[in-house]
Amino acid sequence: MGKNLAPKCKQCRRLGEKLLLKGDRCLTPKCAMVTRNYAPGMHGPKGKKRSSDYGLQLAEKQKARRIYGLMEKQFRLTFDKARQQTGDTGKNFLKFLEMRLDNVVHRTGLGASQTQARQLVNHGHFTVNNRKVDVPSFIVKIGDVIRIKKASAKNRHFRELGEKMKKMELPSWLHFDASDLSIKVLHEPGENDMPKNVNVQMIIEFYSK
Ligand code: SF4
Repeated sequence: MGKNLAPKCKQCRRLGEKLLLKGDRCLTPKCAMVTRNYAPGMHGPKGKKRSSDYGLQLAEKQKARRIYGLMEKQFRLTFDKARQQTGDTGKNFLKFLEMRLDNVVHRTGLGASQTQARQLVNHGHFTVNNRKVDVPSFIVKIGDVIRIKKASAKNRHFRELGEKMKKMELPSWLHFDASDLSIKVLHEPGENDMPKNVNVQMIIEFYSK
């Protein structure tokens, strides 16, 4: 699968919004949206350009794609899968994105950023229902139990996180058990669990052209 190698802070500055792509650094005054809150370019800050409807829809789609760290092909395939399902396409689409294994790892704080979460999954640190899964796009189901592998739990990254996660507020659809560093999927994510800064209707309109 291809990788988005564009500098992360530039992606935020281009879209004019904090996308929290760099983990803990995003919450510090070093965040580029604090120090240079204008679009990237060698000539410094300029006024904001007015965008057409198409431009706004495109920007919304790019924003969601970057939040979930997906390349266009995979993002589009996920959208098409959601469209084939019965029910609300927008809700189904966000549900598929939220229930990806790399996103679960990120949402629970096991990976500080979406990129780190994907890397941890790729490196085979997790099992789902006691079977090793190293595919970031794996979709979890209700009742699934995601565990950090025993050998991996000893490494410093996870040992320190165990303590931090006890204090973290997790999405309502996930339960973290600190005794064995496991996450249980309680139910599908509801509307309150979806990112508030994504206008899924605009993405549907973009792909419907
Ligand atoms: Fe975006 Fe994080 Fe960079 Fe701030 S620090 S601009 S939120 S990636």
